[in-house]
Amino acid sequence: MTGPAVQRQARRTAGQAERVAHSVALLRQAAVRHPDRVVQVSSLGVEGMVLTDLAARHGLAIPVATLDTGMLHAQTLALLLRIRQRWGIEVEVLQPQAEAIVQFVQRHGERAMFESVALRQACCDLRKVQPMQRLLAGRTAWITGLRREQSSHRGGVDEVTIDDGREKFCPLAAWSEADVWQYVADHDVPYNPLHDDFMPSIGCAPCTRAVLPGEDPRAGRWWWEQQGPRECGLHLAPARATATRAAGVANEVVNGIANGIANGVEVDVANELETEAEATP
Ligand code: SF4
Repeated sequence: MTGPAVQRQARRTAGQAERVAHSVALLRQAAVRHPDRVVQVSSLGVEGMVLTDLAARHGLAIPVATLDTGMLHAQTLALLLRIRQRWGIEVEVLQPQAEAIVQFVQRHGERAMFESVALRQACCDLRKVQPMQRLLAGRTAWITGLRREQSSHRGGVDEVTIDDGREKFCPLAAWSEADVWQYVADHDVPYNPLHDDFMPSIGCAPCTRAVLPGEDPRAGRWWWEQQGPRECGLHLAPARATATRAAGVANEVVNGIANGIANGVEVDVANELETEAEATP
């Protein structure tokens, strides 16, 4: 696709091919370490679409899931069909519990999120965090499109962490916005047309607006809140053990895998991981 968002933001930068190869290596690592127990949790934003393309393009059997909060834009939901058409993937869609939503709206109103941060977070908890907990039950790893550049709060995002007992992979952590859009241009990745309308980060319709040039990419999320991380709670786990043995293993292995991919060499990932794990205390 070559829409306005691509034209505005796609740019070739130094090290791009290496970053792509590194991300593929991380995805491969997630798939190998967690067969049938890993899921890509996609908000259907452009980063999620890039991750889906990366995994599909390299034959990695990673299922995709999303949270339909009941408040998403029609343009966002339309991507479910695009994903099916493009990659043949049936996205698993998690929804909030209807009864809980009815009770919340009856008690606090349709616009509760604008009343207080606490009510906004309660809405996010019902519509996002709780469905996410159901989604991850029984899974040992998940993949997300977080990037360090997206906001100051995300500046410290690790590529592999332990989050609530599961491995959390952020294969695009080091990508710039230019990297993301250049990848979209290079591979004709379908994306949400709302990105063309200056919405770099797209969430629920009432809580998302366009940003101005130079604004933080996430400034359009919960824009009326003056302070705080502008997060819904999915990425705000309390002091979860970070880095960990897995991340330690990851650095060595991923670099080896990425080099192999960049040089067109087949890498036995399972063997690499096993060898590295044995060597790691
Ligand atoms: S983003 Fe807004 S509408 Fe969506 S769950 Fe959070 S508060 Fe509710």
